[in-house]
Amino acid sequence: MDSPALPCCIAALIILFLPLSASDDRLVPGKPLFPGNTIVSDGGAFALGFFNPSNSTPAKLYLGIWYNNIPELTVVWVANRETPATNSSSSGPKLSLVNTSNLVLSAGDGNGHVLWTTTNVATVQGFSTPAAVLLNTGNLIIRSSNGTTLWQSFDHRTDTFLPGMKLRMKYKKRNIDERLVSWKGPSDPSQGRFSYGSDPDTPLQMFLWEGERWVARSNPWTGIPVLSLRQHNPPWATNISDIIIYLAYVDNDEEIYASYSLSDGAPHTRFVLAYSGEYQLQSWSSNSLSWVVLGKWPTAECTLYGYCGPYGYCDETVPVPTCKCLDGFEPANMQEWTSGRFVAGCRRKEHLHGCRDNFLALPGMKSPDKFTLVGGDRSTLEECRAECNHNCSCVGYVYGNKSSGRSGGDVTTCFMWAGELVDTGKVYEELGGETFYLRLAGMDTAGMDTAGKRIKSNAIRIVLPVLGSGVLVLICISLAWLKFKGKNKKWRKRKRKILDGMNIPDEVVEENPPHDQEFPFVRLEQIALATQSFSETCVIGQGGFGKVYKGTLGGQEVAVKRLSRDSQQGTKEFSNEVILIAKLHHRNLVRLLGCCGEKDEKLLIYEYLPNKSLDATLFDDSRKLLLDWVTRFTIIKGVARGLLYLHEDSRFTIIHRDLKAGNVLLDADMKPKIADFGMARIFNDNQQNANTQRVVGTYGYMAPEYAMEGMFSTKSDVYSFGVLLLEVVTGIRRNSDIRTMGFPSLTVYSWNMWKEEKTEELPDSCIMDSCSPGEVLLCVHVALLCVQENPDDRPPMSSVVFVLENGSTTLPAPKRPAYFARQSAEMEQIRNDIQTSASSFTLTEIEGR
Ligand code: ATP
Repeated sequence: MDSPALPCCIAALIILFLPLSASDDRLVPGKPLFPGNTIVSDGGAFALGFFNPSNSTPAKLYLGIWYNNIPELTVVWVANRETPATNSSSSGPKLSLVNTSNLVLSAGDGNGHVLWTTTNVATVQGFSTPAAVLLNTGNLIIRSSNGTTLWQSFDHRTDTFLPGMKLRMKYKKRNIDERLVSWKGPSDPSQGRFSYGSDPDTPLQMFLWEGERWVARSNPWTGIPVLSLRQHNPPWATNISDIIIYLAYVDNDEEIYASYSLSDGAPHTRFVLAYSGEYQLQSWSSNSLSWVVLGKWPTAECTLYGYCGPYGYCDETVPVPTCKCLDGFEPANMQEWTSGRFVAGCRRKEHLHGCRDNFLALPGMKSPDKFTLVGGDRSTLEECRAECNHNCSCVGYVYGNKSSGRSGGDVTTCFMWAGELVDTGKVYEELGGETFYLRLAGMDTAGMDTAGKRIKSNAIRIVLPVLGSGVLVLICISLAWLKFKGKNKKWRKRKRKILDGMNIPDEVVEENPPHDQEFPFVRLEQIALATQSFSETCVIGQGGFGKVYKGTLGGQEVAVKRLSRDSQQGTKEFSNEVILIAKLHHRNLVRLLGCCGEKDEKLLIYEYLPNKSLDATLFDDSRKLLLDWVTRFTIIKGVARGLLYLHEDSRFTIIHRDLKAGNVLLDADMKPKIADFGMARIFNDNQQNANTQRVVGTYGYMAPEYAMEGMFSTKSDVYSFGVLLLEVVTGIRRNSDIRTMGFPSLTVYSWNMWKEEKTEELPDSCIMDSCSPGEVLLCVHVALLCVQENPDDRPPMSSVVFVLENGSTTLPAPKRPAYFARQSAEMEQIRNDIQTSASSFTLTEIEGR
């Protein structure tokens, strides 16, 4: 999953801060806070101050709280979302704590204009002096001298739900403050279209809104008060420490709310409603110095509110979530249903016969919306069932046991439905799925046990003990957690089967025991349906191993790579790619969503990236205009981060071996994702180099030791990255006719320009005016270090990422690049060798082909 840019994670933000003094964690009357100063919580986790998110002139200044000890400015709370200050006025804005115990943000424009203030703070009587203290939880509180909290920022959420905050599920309708509200854009903290929270009309469930329209709804809370989810070194996030997230749902006489806390030593972790409308669980990775998205919601298109129509449900337990009809139902309009329009939903195959029909137990369900809570004495499953059974309009019920988590409040545990069942889902039953009892025609008591489970039926699985609800915020974490925990036996069995089907070399299976793997499996017929039976009209590309099709699976656009049947190499590449990619998860890597190894077919299903490859954009005269310097630099840094993840941050050292512009795809925001890991191999940590019998790569990007001796290492990828970097800066193909200018390659040409101190002439002509000379110089310098002949001289990707993101004045001078001293006749010989040794060399692209 990609990590969409969050409003609060913008590198370009200008932070205006200097600590007031090392120990200042509070504001007292008479000592205002000005732009340029910050208040830092005791413990150092958070800072309060002014920031300018948009680089605008005059600067728009917001008062906010952000994480103090991470390099990426990540704002978690903003005071004056709709009323930014400007620093154009003579004195500038200031934040003061006044004697009425209110915080007042004044514009400093000479007119006493107040931009924001805390309200409803009880006036402190007598001589007591209040203080505004920034706690190490990120909560800004106004505290009286006797220790009473008079106001706290945690009661006035913006877009972030932090540990210790409460998200109330019962409140007065007009109090929108109870919801999280997204930023309007990446650099605009004003209120955006999306909000997240409960609906006071139907407490017990959470909604994601766009305006006042429901986008998605969580499972209603029916029980469990605390749930611990352990992110135990998931393969895609080995750099993240174990995190246990304790989610608490407190139901007492006064309120019902959700809250959470983290295990000791856990990295910064937060829920945030991104401006794009995604509700995400993120954790800070100190290795990649970025936020890693552990989970997101909605998880798939069919989880959108009511997407599968009445009596339809979104099955989230399959690799590509898809709409299905509840048992005993069929599509109301088969033609629409098969073409991917589910809004008409499903209809009963057989009409109900009133109260004579019985119930079918459907385990692992997200309960439908529009329920009625039956309170009072229906405190057992049997009583709940009897209540529904006697009410002939009741079409289903769910019984939730929340006695263990209750502290006062309503004891109701029986949910009943009458009329249409909408917004139903199937989720992992181990993590929050409820057993939904559905009234069905033809279900008589003879074939049922007392709880309504069908006996001796293979079709219905045994109902697991109800774990309570995977409600609210849980949905996103649950899925991420379950997906990678690899403990589900059924899942494991399925993976084993797929492993067998793919004929994976023993060595690979041994290195990667099946229980460690994730193999999302999609049926061939589903893929055929999605691609109109692999119709030519769906073809979007042709790679070395076969065609790539665009399709729609479960309402989601996907790219399907169909490996050509006659490709011997393809089988191996396929196996490797599936095993590797299933382990990887990084915003700069193309995500593998599923695969299929049925019959003779070998298919890989990827997330679909709408903006083609970097190659197709960078070297196309009109499309290249989409790539201004800022975008190019972002692409360079993204590719560097993706490669760093492969080399150092994933569980194994993964060497790509074919990094090139054609293997960098661009998403809707022109953010880069590295594709094609089919040629990479898994190494043990101590094995940095390997000999290979097959050379797989692309001429011009290949490091000399790899092209000539088959020696590949992370440093051969670094070499390819250097070439790619030069291409992005210059807009010149590595193998273009630059030789007519007397140079044998782009690397040599660039090195020569560098030596002659003409680096400023290197950038692509269309960015020449807009690019930053300092950044260009830095990129070219880094690139030339990467393409040095001796692999030991090339920097590791961790240094490359660091330098690209932070700049450096102390880089060594690059030595001349590889191939520089060689005669072109010798180069031709190498090229010929490569081309003629088809059995031992496999090239995906050869110059002049
Ligand atoms: P080679 O296999 O020789 O390395 P390649 O990388 O271009 O070549 P593929 O990875 O098979 O080959 O991709 C072929 C083309 O299909 C790409 O250039 C791109 O235009 C398109 N494509 C591949 N994957 C996706 C995707 N996930 N989303 C959108 N388009 C894609």
